[in-house]
Amino acid sequence: MSNTATLSSQDIIARAKQYVIGNYTRYPVALVRGEGSWIWDAEGNRYLDFFPGWGCGVLGHCPPKVVKAVQEQVATLIHVPNTWYTEPQALLGEALSTRTGWGGQCFFCNSGTEANEAAIKLARLNGKPKGKYKIVTFTNSFHGRTYGSLTATAQPKYHAGVEPMLPGFLYAPWGDLDATAKLVDDETAAILLEPIQGEGGVNLAPPGFLEGLRELCDRKGMLLMLDEVQTGMGRTGAWFAHQHWKIVPDVVTLAKAIGGGVALGGVIAKPEVAEKLKPGTHAATFGGNPIACAAALATIATFEEENLLDRAMQVGERFRAHLTAVKAESPLIQEIRVKGAMIGAQLSIDGGPIVEACLKRGLLINCTHKTVLRLLPAVNIDAQQIDDGCAILREVLLATAG
Ligand SMILES: *Cc1c(COP(=O)(O)O)cnc(C)c1O
Repeated sequence: MSNTATLSSQDIIARAKQYVIGNYTRYPVALVRGEGSWIWDAEGNRYLDFFPGWGCGVLGHCPPKVVKAVQEQVATLIHVPNTWYTEPQALLGEALSTRTGWGGQCFFCNSGTEANEAAIKLARLNGKPKGKYKIVTFTNSFHGRTYGSLTATAQPKYHAGVEPMLPGFLYAPWGDLDATAKLVDDETAAILLEPIQGEGGVNLAPPGFLEGLRELCDRKGMLLMLDEVQTGMGRTGAWFAHQHWKIVPDVVTLAKAIGGGVALGGVIAKPEVAEKLKPGTHAATFGGNPIACAAALATIATFEEENLLDRAMQVGERFRAHLTAVKAESPLIQEIRVKGAMIGAQLSIDGGPIVEACLKRGLLINCTHKTVLRLLPAVNIDAQQIDDGCAILREVLLATAG
């Protein structure tokens, strides 16, 4: 297999700059091929990837069973509309529902923002007979870029310039149960949150918060909707992060990791909530297509055959040990936040230059919320790769002045 592209990085970047809209901040690297936690650029330079696919690559790049499932499916049936039944979609619905432990029925789409749009519709459809339509979300949340999900995203920087937003959304301070209860009234249909905020800086729900919101939703007749687009599908060492807190939500949204790197989104809702999504209320043409569903089934099979939920916890603890040691040496790290293979290091400085210095040394990491280094490694990354990458990160941090 060739390690290089036909074009040089320079040629690829020049064409992209001319013909692709510049709405992303991109590093001047053109990536060509990936295998597990390794990835190569057009010149054949190899990088260690602690952030494969922005959280989508939960099994690393090109996981063999996903590759095989997609190859077989693409040669059998690429796409049929949802006016027909397909085996991959039916099996994936069953696989997800049974892994929640609380049943639930699925709707499939292609991305995280679309999954949250479906959840927002579910909230309104369920609330309508009781005169409820408002949705409460939280500061520093991120739910996507289409208007419903974007309005749910309570960070002003994402709204700037594209207002007005959708009516009916209220923002509560993250982690503050009393303030949330005060925002709720008889018109509130649902509370929507990430059990661990991802883009907001790897912020775990504080003790008692999710349990308290569950109780509040029960008392006020509201839906508890969890955005598990980043935390779902084994990322945190459980199929769904909410399983760590032992609460049962009414609606869960998924995307990123669910297809093992193939575009797929989904919603799981309790049957009595899901039934409001009747024919005509919602749809996605590509949603639940055979290729994406076959990829997701292969992802789940890989997790189970290789015991990767447990492995995600071990990966998290190995990173925690390394980062804790660096924290003792460097005042730049203020706090380390870990749940399985979802890892954040709160810095006292802007993390952008740290990410760039790591890139120069062949390590790919991410910085979110300006000051939080975020790692979403593959759950099957090996111990040596963790050790080698963390050694690079340590060197960079120790070489950086506070
Ligand atoms: C990435 C993300 C989304 C948006 O997903 P897209 O597939 O980019 O639309 C929504 N919610 C959370 C928590 C995310 O991390």
